[in-house]
Amino acid sequence: MNMMSEGAWFGMMSIPVAIVAVLIALLALVATIYFRRPVEGHSHKADVSSISGRQSPSADEIERSTIIVIPDISGYTDYFQHSRFSLRHAQYVIGELLEAINQSAGDRLTVCRPEGDALLFYAVLEGVDHPSGYWSDAIKDILKGYYLRRQELVLENVCACQACSRIETLELKVIVHTGSIMQTMVAGYHMLAGIPVIVANRLLKNSVPSSRYVLVSGDAAPVVELDLGEAAELTEKVDGIGPVRIHAHMFDTSELKTEAPLLTGSKAVKQVCDLCRKVSGNLKDVPGIGL
Ligand SMILES: [Zn+2]
Repeated sequence: MNMMSEGAWFGMMSIPVAIVAVLIALLALVATIYFRRPVEGHSHKADVSSISGRQSPSADEIERSTIIVIPDISGYTDYFQHSRFSLRHAQYVIGELLEAINQSAGDRLTVCRPEGDALLFYAVLEGVDHPSGYWSDAIKDILKGYYLRRQELVLENVCACQACSRIETLELKVIVHTGSIMQTMVAGYHMLAGIPVIVANRLLKNSVPSSRYVLVSGDAAPVVELDLGEAAELTEKVDGIGPVRIHAHMFDTSELKTEAPLLTGSKAVKQVCDLCRKVSGNLKDVPGIGL
């Protein structure tokens, strides 16, 4: 599992200049050491496991009205199948996108757990009076953060491997549901328990004919009041639960009014940094280096 087997170590770069490749390899070694250091505050972490979430409230095992938000990267399985020779780069890209989602949620939502291609967020609604548009803005901020970072990753990229050339195929869907949920501890881990959690997870499989949408359940719709795209009212048959009414908001990314990535003037530097992170990941797979 390395770039050699893909036969594209040098061919992957759009600037086929040997001296540049040697320079980048040296920079990669430096970057490997640099990016393995503990990092304070927000950074572009290159691993899905870096999503640790904010401090979770203590588990009080009392059912409370709660909102569940699950951003899920569409096309994840297909992405990894096409990227098996560049797994490190695929992991890097997915990690960056999940981190962007996590940062965009801010303090409004708490991460319960990362699940490969998704994050499960929640927030207690009971006893909290949010202003109008609070949750609609939170959902749209997550979408903006995701698509802005995806755009940056495309612009920064100079690698032509399967993972890096398919970044734009990764879309985002978001499931939103509300209900009475209990926070509990299982085997030392903070867990959410309740039928609404099961419903939210099972709604990830639905009949919405798109890979980019926000699915708001009938229960969550009055809370969220999402102002995005055109909402189609559908009824999903959820396994073991029965029919669940949903609103599917299919939207165009232009509706998000995402600000342009700040790459002007420093694009070359960003590209070198991006490549260094990816190459340093590949060096970990090289016998004898294994950094
Ligand atoms: Zn790549």
